[in-house]
Amino acid sequence: MRRVAHWIGGKPWDGASERAGDIFNPATGEVAGHVDFAGPAEVDAAVDAAAAAFAGWRAASLAKRSNVLFGFRELLAARKTELAEILTAEHGKVLSDAAGEIQRALEVVEYACGVPTLLKGGYSENASTGVDVYSIQQPLGVVAIISPFNFPAMVPLWFVPIAIACGNSVVLKPSEKDPSASIAIAEMWAEAGLPDGVFNVVHGDKVAVDRLLEHPTVKAVSFVGSTPVARHIYDTAARHGKRVQALGGAKNHMVVLPDADLELAADAAVSAGFGSAGERCMAISAVVAVDPIGDDLVAKIASRMAELRVGEGTRPGCEMGPLITPQHRDKVTGYLDAGVADGAELTVDGRKHPIDGAAEGFWLGPTLFDHVAPDMSVYTDEIFGPVLSVVRAPSYQAAVDLVNANPYGNGVAIFTDDGGAARRFQNEIEVGMVGVNVPIPVPVAYYSFGGWKQSLFGDAHAYGPDGVRFYTRTKAVTSRWLDPSHGGVTLGFPQNV
Ligand code: NAD
Repeated sequence: MRRVAHWIGGKPWDGASERAGDIFNPATGEVAGHVDFAGPAEVDAAVDAAAAAFAGWRAASLAKRSNVLFGFRELLAARKTELAEILTAEHGKVLSDAAGEIQRALEVVEYACGVPTLLKGGYSENASTGVDVYSIQQPLGVVAIISPFNFPAMVPLWFVPIAIACGNSVVLKPSEKDPSASIAIAEMWAEAGLPDGVFNVVHGDKVAVDRLLEHPTVKAVSFVGSTPVARHIYDTAARHGKRVQALGGAKNHMVVLPDADLELAADAAVSAGFGSAGERCMAISAVVAVDPIGDDLVAKIASRMAELRVGEGTRPGCEMGPLITPQHRDKVTGYLDAGVADGAELTVDGRKHPIDGAAEGFWLGPTLFDHVAPDMSVYTDEIFGPVLSVVRAPSYQAAVDLVNANPYGNGVAIFTDDGGAARRFQNEIEVGMVGVNVPIPVPVAYYSFGGWKQSLFGDAHAYGPDGVRFYTRTKAVTSRWLDPSHGGVTLGFPQNV
């Protein structure tokens, strides 16, 4: 049986970990391999390797660093299909979706290739007479990245290329549920010429994570996962003096105004609700239908859902795969009973959807609830599965109030033909990423990705300019050369003249 080992100091770790976990193929229910779970000793070995590599990598010129990044970019582009197959085998998402994830990751790598431009500081000549002031951005040291199961390639690559481009060394702790993509990525970094130890991977669970959070050598932590864990990461890492950004869970709304093109809105709701079986932090989980379009919109969504092909991600034509584990499938399925018990209308029951795959897979078909109220668990909880709720709202204002009252603030979309309403919405809505007639508004790589409220703990968003700021410290230098007019001894506070 295949064993996925840690990657430390530029090669697979050949020591034995005391614990290991199963890796499933969610489409067949089979155990496809095992992954080592790091204890403190393996984490320490990875951090030591990263610390040893840091001095050399920090000193590597920007030209050298961007050269390695360009090399990595070429390898990632060339191996997109191979990597997509790894993702589908362990995560279950269909191949086209897996390829899309890698394409978005590539955009971040390409952004990081521009590191010579990204790290340009400011320079003020003659800020005071004969005195120049300038800023330089320097790496932090060893940084830890902890990622979730739902984007095993893209989420690590939101962070790793920028951290490395900025001169840091990295310890990645990917999800234990689909760990192989991180090893394929490690091999590509090595092949691209990244010095050994600059990128390391430790697998495992809370034990490995908690050691990273407490390790004195780790200077910063980037985390993506559920809100309760994000809060734990933020609190613990900050208490140990680290810079931390912890991206959490979500409950994304799609507000549909009465003037919207309902065909477009229904397509968008189905695509964004059921893509990747709803296991996306930017998935739409609540459609807010503003009166009087609710009945029309629900009918259009339901008819599209009936056409969706659910099955094994490798089968041509399949659009939606299984859920990640049997436990998660059962938890999500439990919301179907909870919604009915709370009084919502189960318009489409995903348990009845035909499945193109093995009976043992972790399946649940697309599900639609109508007349969902804000106090029902299908609305309050992040379900993270193929369950879409429609909430009816009497007015634009009621829709905005509903979204703003939600504790999460990751993504939101508005569908309308009214530019004025859209502009007002983007101003009033308390959510970090807004789509106007775009259901999944994941920003391009040269902006930054991040939610508000309980969808992000910390100040910096992921990738883009925030990513560069997060992985660097700014130093301001005030310099005077060969100026005889320095004024001799003076104990007064220096003034700029
Ligand atoms: P998770 O919180 O269970 O796990 C995330 C990571 O934390 C994994 O590496 C896991 O091993 C580790 N972990 C789990 N429990 C831990 C604990 N108690 N202490 C320390 N570490 C722990 O999340 P998941 O199920 O892998 O991913 C799904 C969640 O991630 C959803 O809530 C989703 O919204 C969120 N997510 C958010 C974003 C975003 O950008 N905001 C992006 C993707 C996923």
